Amino acid sequence: MVLAIMERDLFTTDRLFCPGPTPVPKAALDAASATSVYHRAEEFYKIFRGCLTSLQPIFGCSELPVILASSGTGGLEAAMTNLTDAEDEIVVVNGGKFGERWQKLGEAYQCKVEVVQIPWGTKPDVAMIKAAISKQKKTKAVFLQANETSTGAYYGIETLVPELRKTFDGLVVVDAISSLGAHAMKMDAWKIDCVIAGSQKGFGIPAGLAFVALSKRAWQGLSKRPKFYFDLAKEAKGQHGEGRSAWTPANSLIMSLSATLEIMHQTGLDNVLAHHAQMAKAARAAFAAIGLEILPKNAQSNALTTAVFPSGIDGSKVLKRLRQRFAMFFAGGQDELKGKVVRFAHLGFVSRFDLIDGIAALEFGLAEEGYKFDVGAGVKAAMKSFMTKTSAQ
Ligand SMILES: *Cc1c(COP(=O)(O)O)cnc(C)c1O
Repeated sequence: MVLAIMERDLFTTDRLFCPGPTPVPKAALDAASATSVYHRAEEFYKIFRGCLTSLQPIFGCSELPVILASSGTGGLEAAMTNLTDAEDEIVVVNGGKFGERWQKLGEAYQCKVEVVQIPWGTKPDVAMIKAAISKQKKTKAVFLQANETSTGAYYGIETLVPELRKTFDGLVVVDAISSLGAHAMKMDAWKIDCVIAGSQKGFGIPAGLAFVALSKRAWQGLSKRPKFYFDLAKEAKGQHGEGRSAWTPANSLIMSLSATLEIMHQTGLDNVLAHHAQMAKAARAAFAAIGLEILPKNAQSNALTTAVFPSGIDGSKVLKRLRQRFAMFFAGGQDELKGKVVRFAHLGFVSRFDLIDGIAALEFGLAEEGYKFDVGAGVKAAMKSFMTKTSAQ
């Protein structure tokens, strides 16, 4: 017990294993410490615009994205208000908390919303989306996630969207907030019209920035709604020009973003994706060895692995214990998954050793709650998995 208390106090920082916020690398912290940054100066415009050009290949889009000072949801709201008008018919995929957020946003902005409701932990198939579209006269846009973070289901949009495109010519809007950096995104090639991402997920900096990329035709068909703060056309004019945001940008976050984008490009985007695929594979191997089932079947994410606690084990208690004793933060389940799952994130700047520590901590927690298994089996399986090669997806 004494030792456990010491362990907690010995850590210099809390350890984050949740799908946002993710660990912030030192280079990003250092960059943020440049406090006297004037945002209407040539030097800053250069850094800001540099972020846009560094983000662009991560979206796979021939248009530059825009950066907004908001959490990810601000980016979702900007997409909704700039791409739809009141009374427009839209389809949303609801497979968890974030799909529900699209639904609520659509309703808040008075769209006619047709919901594709799917069980938590599953991914939608194209037939379901087509069926929803066929119930409407003219569907303006389909809204979905790339990765439903509340369940850990990756929707396989690289096959889903091109398949949908064979019969659907409206807009396709993808909330990729928890997938960018962990899964490939090719907006142009897959004919996606809008992708939203956020700073505190795959980009390894604190919350406060949203990134929104639009296709050429989306830029040409913006809504007629009244807009003010989230006016994407206004932002694009200044940001794509000299690198000037309409309002005061979140200076320190931009400085940090510039630093982590630099690391991502130096590592190579393909290598970043391959790393995430390898981490996810190791996490799955570890949970299999411990005897925990993975929630999403055939929809596994490279960003997070959602494992189901064995029956009789109170998951909330396990996770609370790990927070209190080791300062290790894992996300549990929400709503219908409350107490039942652990969402183990390996998104952003997370190393193999972080993952091994996380698995070891969960093993301690499970053993202490009385779960019978071969302690150490998860760590061993993860290490073995790291010794085998894997390819990016
Ligand atoms: C984190 C996340 C969001 C954004 O949430 P904020 O709290 O507003 O940053 C949206 N969608 C998904 C899929 C997410 O993972």
